[in-house]
Amino acid sequence: MAILVTGGAGYIGSHTCVELINAGYDVVVLDNLSNSSEKSLERVEALTGKKPVFYKGDILDRDILNKVFAENKIDACIHFAGLKAVGESVAKPWEYYENNIAGTLTLVDVMRQNGCKNIIFSSSATVYGNPAQIPITEECPKGQCTNPYGWTKSMLEQILSDMQKADNEWNVILLRYFNPIGAHPSGTMGENPNGIPNNLMPYITQVAVGKLPELGIFGDDYDTPDGTGVRDYIHVVDLADGHVKALKKIEENAGLCIYNLGTGVGYSVLDIVKNFEKANDIKIPYQIKPRRAGDVATCYSDATKAKEELGWTAKYGIEDMCRDSWNWQKNNPNGYES
Ligand code: NAD
Ligand code: UDP
Repeated sequence: MAILVTGGAGYIGSHTCVELINAGYDVVVLDNLSNSSEKSLERVEALTGKKPVFYKGDILDRDILNKVFAENKIDACIHFAGLKAVGESVAKPWEYYENNIAGTLTLVDVMRQNGCKNIIFSSSATVYGNPAQIPITEECPKGQCTNPYGWTKSMLEQILSDMQKADNEWNVILLRYFNPIGAHPSGTMGENPNGIPNNLMPYITQVAVGKLPELGIFGDDYDTPDGTGVRDYIHVVDLADGHVKALKKIEENAGLCIYNLGTGVGYSVLDIVKNFEKANDIKIPYQIKPRRAGDVATCYSDATKAKEELGWTAKYGIEDMCRDSWNWQKNNPNGYES
């Protein structure tokens, strides 16, 4: 079975390529490298002994998509390709709607024209907005997103669900990720953010490596045990494994399925700082800053459904996530350009 992995050179996509190849799948990657390096695929090869077939191209480009389908027998698509920077999406909404929504519409149109109606889509816990219940089950109503990036996820969930309802030959698996962190335990693959990171863990690792002077903690007056924001951090290798498990649902012709991929455990920002310091024996200087616009106090999953229906649970704990994030950063201070 060949799996098309759009955005497969990126952070989650490249880790998923490793797990797919290890599980015996043939992997074809389409990526425009707008936020990644082809070197990640060389690392995939080094770890698995097999390089994914790679096409440098855009999901908005029908010609390259048709070429991919003509040259490979694609059974399913795992669709990671998209722009994901929250702040940038506020400044450039059109670019986000064009890339993420028009790109996905183009991709699924070419897929159906080529007789492939199986898709796993990277969604996000952001679709729950300020969640109506904690822990968050999949039945929790979707909420108001606070930025265009979040709306692209919410709208694409709706579009893909409507397509599946109208044509039950489609299998659509929507995976709502919580907070992916960590890196491959080998230290050869990890997150490679451009510029100053927006997310907590890459910011911490860049403080640890001396690129940034200190961490700013966005608010200590939330209604949480220590006042800082609580999130459900998940190791990227566990997340990658969730996609391999989700492929089984496609093989069972399951139709439309929605799963949270999280650990079900919430950690505060200060918990993460303390765990990072303990796991790696490095002090992280920090300063409390005002709250960041759009942040919610608490967001963590109820991960029961993925366990019951996919047989998937997170295996890595917070110490592993902190250790592997640091292992990647210290061995590759400039990411794939190191
Ligand atoms: P990433 O930026 O590392 O990977 C996305 C990849 O898509 C990149 O390699 C980029 O070059 C590629 N890409 C972007 N637009 C493209 C286009 N038009 N055509 C072809 N390739 C294109 O991000 P990631 O963290 O690996 O995220 C993967 C997916 O998971 C994204 O859809 C993201 O929105 C989603 N997601 C990520 C997180 C997170 O915290 N990392 C959380 C929830 C959901
Ligand atoms: N955060 C922080 N300082 C940073 C980055 C993030 O205090 O430099 C906090 C943020 O307010 C939230 C948590 O860390 O409570 C996780 O933020 P991140 O951006 O990693 O993920 P989000 O949950 O916003 O998608």
